[in-house]
Amino acid sequence: MNVSAKQANGAGPSVVIIGSGFGGLSMGHSLKQAGIESFTILEKAQDVGGVWRENTYPGAACDVPSHLYSFSFEPHYPWSCRYGKQAEILDYLRHVARKHDLLSHVRFGCEVLGADYDEARGLWRIRLKGGEVLEANMLVSAVGQLHQPQIPQLKGLEGFKGRTFHSARWDHGYDFKGKTVAVIGTGPSAVQLVPEIAKEVKRLHLYQRSPGWCVPKLDRPYRRWERRLIEAFPLLHDFDRMRIFWTFELLNSALLRKPILGTIAKTFLRTSAEVLKHLQVRNRALRAKLTPDYPMGCKRTLLSNEWMRTLAQPHVEVISEGIREVTAGGIRAEDGTLREVDAIVYGTGFASTEFLAPMEIHGLGGRSLRERWKNGAEAYLGMSVSGFPNLFVVYGPNTNLGAGSIIYMLEQQTRYIAQAATVLRDRGLASLEVRVDVQHEFNAMLQKRNKQTVFEAGCHSWYLTADGRNTNTWVGYMSEYGRLTRTPNLAHYHLVPAKASDEALARAA
Ligand SMILES: Cc1cc2nc3c(=O)[nH]c(=O)nc-3n(C[C@H](O)[C@H](O)[C@H](O)COP(=O)(O)OP(=O)(O)OC[C@H]3O[C@@H](n4cnc5c(N)ncnc54)[C@H](O)[C@@H]3O)c2cc1C
Repeated sequence: MNVSAKQANGAGPSVVIIGSGFGGLSMGHSLKQAGIESFTILEKAQDVGGVWRENTYPGAACDVPSHLYSFSFEPHYPWSCRYGKQAEILDYLRHVARKHDLLSHVRFGCEVLGADYDEARGLWRIRLKGGEVLEANMLVSAVGQLHQPQIPQLKGLEGFKGRTFHSARWDHGYDFKGKTVAVIGTGPSAVQLVPEIAKEVKRLHLYQRSPGWCVPKLDRPYRRWERRLIEAFPLLHDFDRMRIFWTFELLNSALLRKPILGTIAKTFLRTSAEVLKHLQVRNRALRAKLTPDYPMGCKRTLLSNEWMRTLAQPHVEVISEGIREVTAGGIRAEDGTLREVDAIVYGTGFASTEFLAPMEIHGLGGRSLRERWKNGAEAYLGMSVSGFPNLFVVYGPNTNLGAGSIIYMLEQQTRYIAQAATVLRDRGLASLEVRVDVQHEFNAMLQKRNKQTVFEAGCHSWYLTADGRNTNTWVGYMSEYGRLTRTPNLAHYHLVPAKASDEALARAA
């Protein structure tokens, strides 16, 4: 099948979007808003939803209030609680896909293996598993940052006789009742699932590399009258959305180490974390074990009212000695202690710095994006890469947030990319390619500002590459990113006229 039939005039460029999570659906919606219907969303699974389809572990939920963790174009939804649970968020995404007529654009069961830019024709050739090749003027990756589970490389793991699974590949058939279970990791997923499975197991061993800062989660169900009120007066909802946004901006001040607001926010967060710990953990030694030695926000801050309380239970043990090896029946810690377990659950997160992997993307002159990013991914505004015309990345490098709603960031990006698509259409261009000097200048700014934030303050987090560079998280306020991405500055791009893609060939040579 050839998706590319329509060219720059009339209906607009053909666009292939990879992924149907929040990012892919937002991209489809933005294109529709721009009057472009010639797009196809390729999704390797059989449903929309992205991480909310994949992460079905017990307790999976949002840690941003749903009034903000939702699309601005579909804000009014009858959430049952302040913080949506996984199943509810997945239903919300299905609802959005149906209501905004995005489903008819999705091809399910289509896994993209890679894409090559055909310089002569100014087209992306997109290779699917099974051999099919599609062609499109524009390629948008919306595969997210948290898609490929990270499995720890532990000595002896292959010889373990019990059950093992990752939080994003939950085995709902596994009966935890009466079992002794090891959980590895103390990130946001572990914080949600450990309190749930601790209710069932006989014994739980939690292996932590480093503890996380944990603050209370101010969650509660909406009362019926509240929901009716919000339905009757949607402005109340909009006001709440705005309030949450600016509260997060205040919290961002702490992560960005801003002098006055940052100190206020930091003091507030630290105090609430310390109070929570003191109230829920009476044992001093355990409290010490659960006290981070890095500034708050360096790793993602945890939100839970149950985490600390669960770790203080007598049948739960926190082990911070590190893992020496896995044996057939258990885990041996670095201090030599062997603990027999029936199952190992990985709460170890995702291969977050390997953007777009395992796809192989080749741009001008056959250059490999993976090769280009081998020392750390970078893109102008997190979206465009020089040498890769008409390729845009949603939730790309340095567009994650330490505090705030990723949906806000995704919407800024998809609006920007849709505007780029209209530029192709309205000016009859073959391609837009970000200038290399613009990309370098932008990334020099990111690296400089990284040093002032808490993200590179010395902890081990999923925001960082192996050599400690933050390639994942944005270094400013959400509102600043919104300002920077309001409209594409065409002076930042090489504009290649439709019939002059030879220019691209010349530049590549
Ligand atoms: C458990 C969990 C909780 C989270 N909680 C929050 C939160 O509270 N607040 C917040 O702001 N963010 C949170 N996040 C971050 C979350 O990733 C983003 O908020 C958002 O959902 C990302 O959407 P996305 O569409 O960019 O990526 P994803 O949701 O990962 O969607 C990517 C889609 O691409 C598809 N895909 C991947 N590769 C291919 C391929 N080669 N071919 C075809 N299809 C492909 C996948 O199947 C998937 O459907 C959470 C993440 C996780 C994992």
